[in-house]
Amino acid sequence: MYGMGVLKGLSVTLKHFVNTYLDDFKYGFLWIGNKRYTTEVLPKRQSAEARGIFTVQYPEEVLKPQERFRFVPFLVYEGSDENREYRCTACGICSKACPPQCIWIVRANDPETGRPLRKPAEFYVDIDICMNCGSCAEFCPFDAIKMDHDFELADYDRTLSHIHDIQRLGKPVEYYARIRPSYHASEQAEILAKADKSARAKG
Ligand code: SF4
Ligand code: SF4
Repeated sequence: MYGMGVLKGLSVTLKHFVNTYLDDFKYGFLWIGNKRYTTEVLPKRQSAEARGIFTVQYPEEVLKPQERFRFVPFLVYEGSDENREYRCTACGICSKACPPQCIWIVRANDPETGRPLRKPAEFYVDIDICMNCGSCAEFCPFDAIKMDHDFELADYDRTLSHIHDIQRLGKPVEYYARIRPSYHASEQAEILAKADKSARAKG
């Protein structure tokens, strides 16, 4: 019948519209006070069980990224902000593995002997070239470089602000544990298991 296709299409839109409100009711009026995107409800609303239309009013509402989400890399350090101990040994594997070649590393030298040290003096990532592939983090043998969740990096400077230096790239291990808890926990478990194995071998 003439017009049936249009009516069918509109009925799908209407169904999504109604389902959106039904889902709100299902999750207990959580939209009151802007709590629609709570960590408790979000996984359900982003799963295959979700119904209706879910529009995020960004930037007022910001979804917490999933744990595996990756944007640009950062360098993990232990210790305090003033006394950073980067895990990086300046081995250069990440820069070799980086497909668009956007990592530059300068190894530190002992000021007295001039011999190379197992740490970087400088470390740069051009985040405009970075394609967020995560290869650097995958290949790093020291868990020193990880993929960040922070994607709000836009600004008006087209020159230097998108070349992140070691100061900008450094983030504490506590930050890493917070954004990627399961990755951090499994790495810690691996470290403990290795330490346990070597202690048994020795004694
Ligand atoms: S981040 Fe990792 S792979 Fe890259 S230079 Fe440092 S230790 Fe090597
Ligand atoms: S995420 Fe990929 S493109 Fe970006 S710095 Fe790492 S290896 Fe290079």
